[in-house]
Amino acid sequence: MRHFPLFRDLRGRRVVVSGAGETAVAKLRLLLKTEATTVVYGAAPHPQIARWATERRLIHIDRPIDHGDALCAAMVYGANEDAVEDARAAIIGHAAGALVNIVDNLEDSDFITPAIVDRDPVTIAIGTEGAAPVLARRIKAENEERLPHSLGTLARIGQGFRDAANALPHGRIRRRFWSRYYDEVGPQALEVGGEEAVVAALHALVADISEEAPETGTVALIGAGPGDPELLTLKARNVLHEADVVIHDRLVSADILELARREAIVIEVGKNPNGASWKQEDIDALMVEHAANGAHVARLKSGDPAVFGRLDEEMDALDAAGIPFTIIPGITAASAAAASIGVSWTRRGRNASFRLLTGHDVAGFAEHDWRGLAKPGQAAAIYMGVRASRFLSGRLLMHGAAADTPVTAIENVSRSDQKIVATTLDRLPDALAGAGITGPAILFLGLSPRQAMAAADDIADPIPATGGQ
Ligand code: SAH
Repeated sequence: MRHFPLFRDLRGRRVVVSGAGETAVAKLRLLLKTEATTVVYGAAPHPQIARWATERRLIHIDRPIDHGDALCAAMVYGANEDAVEDARAAIIGHAAGALVNIVDNLEDSDFITPAIVDRDPVTIAIGTEGAAPVLARRIKAENEERLPHSLGTLARIGQGFRDAANALPHGRIRRRFWSRYYDEVGPQALEVGGEEAVVAALHALVADISEEAPETGTVALIGAGPGDPELLTLKARNVLHEADVVIHDRLVSADILELARREAIVIEVGKNPNGASWKQEDIDALMVEHAANGAHVARLKSGDPAVFGRLDEEMDALDAAGIPFTIIPGITAASAAAASIGVSWTRRGRNASFRLLTGHDVAGFAEHDWRGLAKPGQAAAIYMGVRASRFLSGRLLMHGAAADTPVTAIENVSRSDQKIVATTLDRLPDALAGAGITGPAILFLGLSPRQAMAAADDIADPIPATGGQ
């Protein structure tokens, strides 16, 4: 993000516009919405500027800008449609310590003016760093359509009511008050009885909400998927949006955490394989503590919470503390990994079963039914297998697996830095090291990417298909 968005207070400040033509008019339409004193410099003004000057909405000076004209100005716009004149305006503006914007010239500007959806005091500013004005216009049009014009009025009345609303307890209850105001009570009252009815409805709503029984805290054990926020379920997204406290694993992506409310308390309880880690008991205690205080806790786990996620320990701890919980399934890493290489976990005539294994367990490298796994036609997804790859490959080969059994590693599934390494069982550890696989990865035993798989199927004598799977 090269430009940081912020809202500048222009009350009682001067804004200077150099240029009095068509381009200046377009900017002035926005600037005149503010409480700034706007001064326009330029000979032969556009009739609209002359009109605004007569109406005293701005001050027009009938000559080009000169040194000293930008004194105490908060911002200076170069809107001359003339590069030399704009450059002169920039020098004058900078000398006065003002921020300068040259219209349609990103490189010579200190700031850019966003596209605006105006429901004053609610303002949406849309910027694309100059990269996609068409997109900005589309987002603006969508928001113009979606947000009723009464929103500004409701927000203004709500602003005047903040002190009265502060009588309600902070947090969930106060939030419920405001949601109900903006979603139902406010719009209805405004439509039926105008602004006075809205104020009366606000008083009634405070009384109603004060009488409602306090909510008990809950925990949602949520599968956050492999990283791409679009792979989150709608249910997970809704619960996350409502949560007071978000407790998440290290592998839950930043894009997903963005979906939490800004006021939510967000706590990472990482279990870093190479560094400091949270103990499971401490994570359990943290969930219990917040829920016992009445909070709605979103416990975000990567992938699906029921796959190598220590779900049972967390459910047991919540049961023991008498805290109600729900489980929201997610897309497990192996499922997204299969999608990204275009293969299915099972296939008629190829493999009728599929295993999920872990490379590590509490005792270190995990032991498995190596003999069963080494048989031809087996397929498995190995989680936490990168550091155990030499051990895995050694064990399987020792139990008779073919050296050329395909293995595919998919690192950072569904993220922008996803990497795929297709290799064979005997070369696995070296191939992983060679490709620099260090992030979270799924190892598919017996599966290779779709194209390679199709080529191998052509060569091998296919086993006759029997029944559906
Ligand atoms: N509950 C998770 C698994 C947690 S165990 C799930 O259902 O996906 C952690 C392991 O999951 C990692 O070591 C890695 O093997 C795998 N994993 C999690 N996110 C991943 C991702 N985005 N890409 C590849 N593997 C991932």
